[in-house]
Amino acid sequence: MRRVFAHLLVLLSAVLLVAGGLTTAPPAQAATAIETKYAELGGSGGNLGAPTSAEVCGLRGGGCYRNYQRGAIVWSPATGAHPSWGAIRETWRSYGFETGGLGYPTTGEICGLRNAGCYQSFQGGAIVWSPATGARISVGGIRTAWAASGFENGALGYPTTNEVCGLRGGGCYQNYQGGAIIWSPATGARISIGGIRAAWAATGYENGALGYPVSNESCSGGTCSQAYQRGRISWTAAGGARVFRDIDVAASVVVVVNKRRQLNPARHVPGPLVDVGGPLLRSDAAQQFSRLLADARAGGIAMVPVSGYRSYDTQASLYASYVDLYGQTAADLISARPGFSEHQTGLAIDIGNANGACGLQECFAGTPAGAWAAQNAWRYGFIVRYPQGQTPVTGYAYEPWHLRYVGPTVASEMRTHGLRTLEQYMSLPAAPSY
Ligand SMILES: [Zn+2]
Repeated sequence: MRRVFAHLLVLLSAVLLVAGGLTTAPPAQAATAIETKYAELGGSGGNLGAPTSAEVCGLRGGGCYRNYQRGAIVWSPATGAHPSWGAIRETWRSYGFETGGLGYPTTGEICGLRNAGCYQSFQGGAIVWSPATGARISVGGIRTAWAASGFENGALGYPTTNEVCGLRGGGCYQNYQGGAIIWSPATGARISIGGIRAAWAATGYENGALGYPVSNESCSGGTCSQAYQRGRISWTAAGGARVFRDIDVAASVVVVVNKRRQLNPARHVPGPLVDVGGPLLRSDAAQQFSRLLADARAGGIAMVPVSGYRSYDTQASLYASYVDLYGQTAADLISARPGFSEHQTGLAIDIGNANGACGLQECFAGTPAGAWAAQNAWRYGFIVRYPQGQTPVTGYAYEPWHLRYVGPTVASEMRTHGLRTLEQYMSLPAAPSY
């Protein structure tokens, strides 16, 4: 309203001047912000060309625009006056101009990006253009993740699509030259690139066994790794990508058995079982454990296997005896209920010193066998499954003697990435209690 009133005043004074018969030029009308911006951009000789409309006001939030031969200038009290043209303008138009999610422009077009790209910022994000990829919107959590990866200069490069929503669980994705960013309300925005992306695609993306990514890829010691809702993908240059699904199938080498996850089936019997010097282990674990034992002994460590495979029934009577001795609460901290024991998988083995020093006690960690295992077990595909300080995650007290076979790839990856528990590795919730 103020602007209209000002126009009337100027008009009125011009009429009065004419009526007064004065010959001097009327005083210049105060230029609007749009006119000032137009002049700044070179007027009719600039990029916009000549005006094709009057200034039109009444837009959302008190905004105005004026059209020109090759675009427009758009003004709002909150954002000032900015030009809008070309492919970026077309994309802005397709998102409903200032009434869409982008809102008003907050800059003009800024060029000189890598490979001759340009962008324009808006209240709700940006539109990014390059000759190879066209003009694409960039908004929200996906934009934040792209920014963190270095925008068009990072591994993703320029966006090649707009954000596409309607995925399972309300998810969205946006493709880039180097991969994609996937967002869901439950998992946030995660980057998906390279060999790990290809392996994830082969599982069916977010609709497959792994679900959405819950971390970006992280690389360390030649291994790259990305966590998903139900598993993990590891990649090395030599071995390519390997998918480790968190499946509650007892036969999986990476099966997670804890107080929240009973074996499936509960009376699972692994096979075939191999004698490793008294205790039995599943053949793949047995083969690696025999190497571990031989190497430890060759190094002068008098290590002995103490307990390996235990059947459902054996575990049932073992647990019952602990309950009789200590009561259920104390028993649950040191012994698994039947169907919840790693020993039933045939992939877990308790070790000791030949002289019995610190047998099944925390001080085992300081004995020759305990120290050697902590240092070297990963080389054979074993992890110390119940590490110190992880009781709130694993549900068990520190057991430096309990080794779990997960295979050399996973064991080495957990080590290089500092993942101390299988729960962390598989992005599973902590299992402090039944
Ligand atoms: Zn054990």
